[in-house]
Amino acid sequence: MLIVKKFGGTSVADKDRIYNVAQRCIEDYREGHDVVVVLSAMGDTTDDLISLAKTINPEPKKRELDMLMTTGEQVSVALMAMAMDAMHVPAVSLNAFQVKMNSTSRYGNARFKSIDTKRIRHELDSRKIVIVTGFQGVNKYEDITTLGRGGSDTTAVALAAVLHADKCEIYTDVDGVYTADPRVVKDARKLDAITYDEMLELATLGAKVLHNRSVEMAKKYGVELVVRSSLNRSEGTIIKEKVKMEKMLITGVAADKNTARISVIGVEDKPGIAFRIFNTLAANNINVDIILQSVGREGTKDISFTVAEDELKRALEVLEEYKEALTIQDITYNAKVAKISVVGAGMMSNPGVAAKMFESLYNSRININMISTSEIRITVLIDEKDIEEAMNAVHEGFALALVE
Ligand code: ASP
Ligand code: MG
Repeated sequence: MLIVKKFGGTSVADKDRIYNVAQRCIEDYREGHDVVVVLSAMGDTTDDLISLAKTINPEPKKRELDMLMTTGEQVSVALMAMAMDAMHVPAVSLNAFQVKMNSTSRYGNARFKSIDTKRIRHELDSRKIVIVTGFQGVNKYEDITTLGRGGSDTTAVALAAVLHADKCEIYTDVDGVYTADPRVVKDARKLDAITYDEMLELATLGAKVLHNRSVEMAKKYGVELVVRSSLNRSEGTIIKEKVKMEKMLITGVAADKNTARISVIGVEDKPGIAFRIFNTLAANNINVDIILQSVGREGTKDISFTVAEDELKRALEVLEEYKEALTIQDITYNAKVAKISVVGAGMMSNPGVAAKMFESLYNSRININMISTSEIRITVLIDEKDIEEAMNAVHEGFALALVE
């Protein structure tokens, strides 16, 4: 069997943890399997490197930032190879250059284009454990790139796809994917399995277990994933195309506080205005999420929408700049809002999920500002201060803790 094992920063944060990971990889190796290990940078290294960069230059060039950040992963893989060597197991560390993991040019947010498997195959054939840097690629200028924060998961899935791995295991510091963030919802329960689509919705909604592009890629190439803890032996959560339906409508509840609402008031009520507003925002790289348009009155209407809170300032600047051209009379905003979502493939065939969610919120007297839905998700915008109560109320409303 060929097994890809990815370990996050907390799993390799210090000497003991590095030896713990080495031990787990060696167990598979000794059973005769081919083992490819993908590592993140140790602990908070990536954050520390970014802070360090900013002490030198508050706005570092993205190319140089990638050059700096990728050193974190290089430290991890080299130390891991040394640990395995100390345990008398042949191992070799490789970076994206050595493997030839080609990516798009975009620094800080590159995507894989092609991965050469020759070197890895060669090392596996000589019975070595191969340890690869997560998070990095090489672009056509032969510069090193990064895949965006949390991108090591995507490195692991990409390698599993091109190597046709039998298993792709993502090791982290939690036991798997939960019905809600266990730090907020005490009764949250670990899921045995979840579909790619559900996981994608949850990953996008801020359940920070997996890099969402890794889930997209896993779905595209049919790579079955397991998310599990490196600190214990529990089974983890399997992520795959189809999961046998448990008796529940909803798989999980997720919250996202990185949200702000903007309202443009009194814009002309005529065709093309919404297009121009959102086109202007898109042209300035601002992602808009939930949109709500009021019914027109006296030839004008209001449009409200949400953006990521860290893009709020920029969005307001853009709207202010084009205020007249877009016929906007007034702009209001609120950064103290949050999204709460329920996700579940079960809702496709079951009406009443939205009603149940609204009922749970109503029972806690929590006001709903905006609503948006997809086939397998319902999201509502509420006041940020209510988010923890809302999470618990909705989780309980769907009896997520009780099913087993
Ligand atoms: N070390 C990188 C980060 O913190 C990549 C990763 O951990 O997946 O974003
Ligand atoms: Mg991560």
